[in-house]
Amino acid sequence: MPYLVRENLFIGNIGDAAEILQNGSTEVTHILSVLNSPSISFFGEWRSGLTIPAKEIKKVYVGSSDESASTEDLDAGSKSSLSPGKLLYSLEYAGKDLKLVRMAVPIKDMESEDLLDYLDVCLDFIARSRKEGSVLVHCFAGVSRSAAIITAYLMRTERLSVEDALESLKQSYEFVCPNDGFLDQLKLFEEMGFKVNRTSSIYKRFRLKVLGDHYNRGGKLDSSIFGADPGIATGVSSEAEAPPNNEKHSTAYRCKKCRRIVAMQENVIDHIPGEGETSFTWNKRKSGNPFSKSDDEPECSSIFIEPLRWMTAVEEGALEGKLSCIHCEGRLGYFNWSGVQCSCGSWITPAFQIHKSRVDVSRI
Ligand SMILES: [Zn+2]
Ligand SMILES: [Zn+2]
Repeated sequence: MPYLVRENLFIGNIGDAAEILQNGSTEVTHILSVLNSPSISFFGEWRSGLTIPAKEIKKVYVGSSDESASTEDLDAGSKSSLSPGKLLYSLEYAGKDLKLVRMAVPIKDMESEDLLDYLDVCLDFIARSRKEGSVLVHCFAGVSRSAAIITAYLMRTERLSVEDALESLKQSYEFVCPNDGFLDQLKLFEEMGFKVNRTSSIYKRFRLKVLGDHYNRGGKLDSSIFGADPGIATGVSSEAEAPPNNEKHSTAYRCKKCRRIVAMQENVIDHIPGEGETSFTWNKRKSGNPFSKSDDEPECSSIFIEPLRWMTAVEEGALEGKLSCIHCEGRLGYFNWSGVQCSCGSWITPAFQIHKSRVDVSRI
């Protein structure tokens, strides 16, 4: 039996969903399936012989125009951390007499799974469904994935912390237990103000971590997972041109030798100076001169950016290497998937480091 979480909102497992899809329900009108496979045939794999009728409404892929239209994410120029072309969700009529509306989202119950990028579409679907009827959110066991999605929904609608939302959900169904990776991402969701803000440093650091995991698992490094090359959009010779009317200005980092743009402020991933991931940092700082001001306020001699499409050395798959200007081949910095320690003491992992001494900063 599915458990009631809020009015018109239920949590359940695959058996609960199969029962409703087979026999219909007097209450549930919408189903959000969070399973390894979005296909309705997954139910047949789960219990052989089970065939559930379905009629596709639409499929939405990452990066398609439908994606932005279907979410309430208003961040201009937002981009997904998933590779473009990957299925975001499918929507269909399903079950007995095709009376139910089912949205299926392909998410695996793994700590490294990217939950954040699916949250907007899932939470919006739950909100719409509760207005039109009642929604069952289910995964396989009804313990981790569905619980993570409903926790995020309660966080957003009731402005609750992760802990409070999860505690509240446990009042309805005590066995909920999102995996640790999902809990970490829900914490980021809370820090971003209950929305997935793709321009925030929090999100950018998360995206970099996802890329690092992808690399460590031996994932393919095709350029589609790298950020666009800001040097191509503006060109090498556009420096003298006036910026287009009142467009938002930004900071550009240019190769000192040839003036090509190598990064924009939007590509920079901020870190808090001196906040290391290991105690090593602290020991190192303590052993320095305690009266020196630079010890208290460490100055970063580098910026760290997201991997961009001009970084051909990165695309070749090495663990570490030089970053050179694609135009003049001048040395700009260094990359290392296992991380680099900034001059301030912070560890950045993975690191795409540009030495400040090799670039000029300008407003465009
Ligand atoms: Zn630093
Ligand atoms: Zn150059």
